[in-house]
Amino acid sequence: MSLEVLEKKVVPKIPLSKNEKKLLALVDKSEQQIIDLLQDLVKIESLNFSEFQYHKIDEIFEFTKDFMDKGGFNTTLFKAPFQSKRKDEYYYNLISFLEGEKKGKTLQFNGHLDIVPFNPENWDEDTPPLGGVIKDGKLYGRGSVDMKAGIACQMIAMKILKESRLSFKGKLQLWLVPDEETHGTYGSVFMTKNHFDIVNADATIIGEPSIRKPLTSPTIGLGEKGPHWLKFTFHGVAGHGSWPKLKSNAINKATRFIHKANRRLKIPKHKPPISKFQQLKYMLKRVTFSDLRKIRSFVPEKSPLDKDKRDSNILYKTTFSFTEINAGIKTNVIPDTCELSVDFRAMPGLSTQDLFDSIVKFCSKLKYRIELPEGYRNSQLQNTKFMKEPVDITMSIITIGEGSATDPNTEFGKTIQNSFEAIYESSPVFHFNTGFSDGGNMREAGMKDIFVFGPGGRNAHNANEYADVDTLKDVTKLYLLIAYRYLNS
Ligand SMILES: [Zn+2]
Repeated sequence: MSLEVLEKKVVPKIPLSKNEKKLLALVDKSEQQIIDLLQDLVKIESLNFSEFQYHKIDEIFEFTKDFMDKGGFNTTLFKAPFQSKRKDEYYYNLISFLEGEKKGKTLQFNGHLDIVPFNPENWDEDTPPLGGVIKDGKLYGRGSVDMKAGIACQMIAMKILKESRLSFKGKLQLWLVPDEETHGTYGSVFMTKNHFDIVNADATIIGEPSIRKPLTSPTIGLGEKGPHWLKFTFHGVAGHGSWPKLKSNAINKATRFIHKANRRLKIPKHKPPISKFQQLKYMLKRVTFSDLRKIRSFVPEKSPLDKDKRDSNILYKTTFSFTEINAGIKTNVIPDTCELSVDFRAMPGLSTQDLFDSIVKFCSKLKYRIELPEGYRNSQLQNTKFMKEPVDITMSIITIGEGSATDPNTEFGKTIQNSFEAIYESSPVFHFNTGFSDGGNMREAGMKDIFVFGPGGRNAHNANEYADVDTLKDVTKLYLLIAYRYLNS
């Protein structure tokens, strides 16, 4: 089933100047270059398995450095030592820039070169994960749309600005990171901690994919929820399987927690960066009401097992999912521990301590004593009754990051808006995301004006991932026009 939606056309508030037309014409001439570069990037394996397992991905950084060097850019590879501290185990970050004639603002393009693992057996034979094969307008490969496509557009946009010899102020910078897929320890976190002055641009565009079919232009991500991945270890008493222990079996404790939490774990509400009303207004500038209804009710494929309705409030509240559970050694032994992983996604404004307070309050209701990681306040410790009880649950942190968002009404937000209108002749939809990007780490480190948008495609993190070739040229134009207008303003 396909979905036809007509996007409303608008007259751009700022029409293209002569120089801008010249720049965009250069992109038209360079379309094949963008495709070739994306194919080259897809063919270089740059796997990222886990934060804790080192995997060498030098080759793709050396390739991109070479490409930028040949283009005449000032390019440096920064080494982030891997936790093993072995001399030959490190990850690269690439910084490459072009300076204008006069001093001015810095605009930064950012992207991650790492890709998630794949199982070649699940991919169609003629479109293998490292092949970069183009079929029916789709460029296949792991990392094609997530997000080597965005990076190829950024690199070519920089090259065109340089080759055009048009004058501009300030600096256009490219920053490529090695590990967005595992939350950026050696990329966005390492660089903002150790080289903040270098990466702290006035504005940053992260080129993650964001063209959501049936729309044909990118949605502009302005913020994201904060992942709080927590592990709860339930402590119980071991015993013989033939003598049930309803209250002290660690599995029973964990399942009681799960069952009650789904209804009774109350987390404080925070104002969303974009209200429901504003989101609707953005969408209705873009499509008609009846098309919007079509988009909202469109479900591509749904398993008969899937009994969940789509939650239309997901962007406006903190959520959680139980994602891993581990317990037991043998069928006839009652387990004394059970480990449960929970994926919380926090709204901007909800601090880690606020979230932990809600969890502690909930545990107190269940009469479970919980121990928090060091450094966090635990209200149970003020209650002498609880203090005498043994610990039922030990909580530990897998990953935490706070929710964050950028105001779309800044000067840079407006440049995105008017450049978008000039390229797509329609109005941009700003959007708040549930998923993580490096933007969260950057905002947490104090960087400002960060937006996330890029080309289209499908099946990121899945078999037969592809980038839509026909979206590359216009996204490159959008990046380039934003850069030219912002750096000359
Ligand atoms: Zn990505």
